[in-house]
Amino acid sequence: MAVEGAKSPLRRLKEYYDEAEPACPACGHVDERTGWSGETDGRQVHYYHECPSCGAVREHEIDVRRA
Ligand SMILES: [Zn+2]
Repeated sequence: MAVEGAKSPLRRLKEYYDEAEPACPACGHVDERTGWSGETDGRQVHYYHECPSCGAVREHEIDVRRA
């Protein structure tokens, strides 16, 4: 679902997670290529990152109105 106004906060938060949590807490691998992916249903933003080294998944869900 494309929501015009949600694009820039989405990108800001993706960059925030790219910077705040670059390293996998399970194996310490720093993923500089994939980074976090974010998607939204218009209410919540779901951020997701799967470690390319060990497969550990990190997720964050944020209320889009606070994003
Ligand atoms: Zn890992």
